[in-house]
Amino acid sequence: METTQISDIKIIKSPTSKIDSVDFETLTFGKQFTDHMLVCDFIDGEWHQPIIMPYAPFEMDPSSRVFHYGQAIFEGMKAYRDAQDEIWLFRPDQNYERFNKSAIRLAMPEVPEHIFMDGLKELIKIDANWIKKGNGNALYIRPFMIGTSDGVIASPSLNFKFCIILSPVKSYYSGEVKVVIADHFSRAANGGIGAAKAAGNYAAQFYPTKLANQKGFQQVIWTDDTTHTKLEESGTMNVFFRINDTLITAPVSERILDGVTRKSLLAIAERDGIKTEVRSITVNEIVDAHRNGSLKEIFGAGTAAVVSLIAGFQYKDEYFELPQVADRFATQLKEKLNAIQYNEAEDTF
Ligand code: PMP
Repeated sequence: METTQISDIKIIKSPTSKIDSVDFETLTFGKQFTDHMLVCDFIDGEWHQPIIMPYAPFEMDPSSRVFHYGQAIFEGMKAYRDAQDEIWLFRPDQNYERFNKSAIRLAMPEVPEHIFMDGLKELIKIDANWIKKGNGNALYIRPFMIGTSDGVIASPSLNFKFCIILSPVKSYYSGEVKVVIADHFSRAANGGIGAAKAAGNYAAQFYPTKLANQKGFQQVIWTDDTTHTKLEESGTMNVFFRINDTLITAPVSERILDGVTRKSLLAIAERDGIKTEVRSITVNEIVDAHRNGSLKEIFGAGTAAVVSLIAGFQYKDEYFELPQVADRFATQLKEKLNAIQYNEAEDTF
């Protein structure tokens, strides 16, 4: 194995590449990983040297805190290759900031910018041939951090492992999904960890989502935990509602993740003259709007799919099918955001 040192990142190159065994036409989201990963340990109060090394399993003590108390956070972002073969990250500073906000909330050390950003850029450079040209093709980037101290003691870990792994992905189109609006289970509560990208938030969604799946729905739209009347977000997406020609989305809060896609779509909509409202929106309001014909679209917004169209929603015992509208805001906004991400349009924000 070839070992080099770039600034303070140690690089151990993989002697072989898996790339020829990967069919880039039939990628399953998040299943294939590139040849390298970045690993950096926090031990005895200090960050150690980041290492880029061949992608491989790691060995951990079975009593590691992450396995018992869920001290784990992550991020999700993408790198894109433009028509001139240049590689672009989309607003990685926002993911970096959100990562450290999550770290603080989960009693973890913040990751220094040079480890996160320089480590990420160096890793992407090494595995750059995994990023294919063409709209929809991208490299999904998954930074994460776990508590590695051993001991089944319900107190914060002292040692941590920060990693970045990379997964090539294709355009992600899930089709139009049917959703259930939550009237009992909650994803997050005030004072909780809903605004953090904490692993436990996702584990908590799996059971209610499984119940929804069994009834033929793909996702749950979460509502506020006290009254279950305010619409919040869904799975790994923020949610937008179009009533007549106004685009409405809930304000981010302690319970709702501050999505990069959400902010970007809001900015594009405002720039292009679509009326937007960032405010609480209730289940009753969309049920009424559906009944009087003014509810035109609902869609999710997040890094993986950019936008995901919603075909209809179930609330209590009633199903509300959304109309098929021409010239959807969802489609227009997705195209405009994609154009920025692939460097086909100027990022004017
Ligand atoms: N909400 C949740 C709970 C998420 O996990 C995600 C994905 N990160 C989002 C919203 C969308 O955020 P982003 O646009 O930054 O991907």
